[in-house]
Amino acid sequence: MRYRPRFGSARREGVWYGACIAAYLGGNGANPICNLCGLPVFETDDWDESHDPGRAKVFGGKVTGVAHRRCNREHGAKVVTPAKAKSDRVRRRHAGELGPGRGKRLLPGGRRSSISKTFNRGVQPRLTGAEKHALMMAAREIAVRSELPG
Ligand SMILES: [Zn+2]
Repeated sequence: MRYRPRFGSARREGVWYGACIAAYLGGNGANPICNLCGLPVFETDDWDESHDPGRAKVFGGKVTGVAHRRCNREHGAKVVTPAKAKSDRVRRRHAGELGPGRGKRLLPGGRRSSISKTFNRGVQPRLTGAEKHALMMAAREIAVRSELPG
């Protein structure tokens, strides 16, 4: 007969038995202890693999044991998600992605746009510095030639 893991996968089974052994060696009984609330987790409870409460999975934390599903989801919603959002904001700010005109959508005719809106010539394609320099040199050449006699 085919082997079936106890909790749906061999990984979950290993986490469960590892937490059972840790609880037993710690003198806390045969059931794993929730690493968020400190109460025992029974086989009939909904449970999740829990990561180090001080270092969440999104920050590279390792699986440390078993937690009640309710405790783990509450910890994720109240601690992990806001911390991840803040770290993303800080990273974006330091990378220069935040600020006026630096959002997801470019300001039409803004500094980063490929078009330029002018008072006299209307909407024009934005030129690079090299293109502007070449135009200036060409205009200067024409001006010098027209001043030369003959
Ligand atoms: Zn708990």
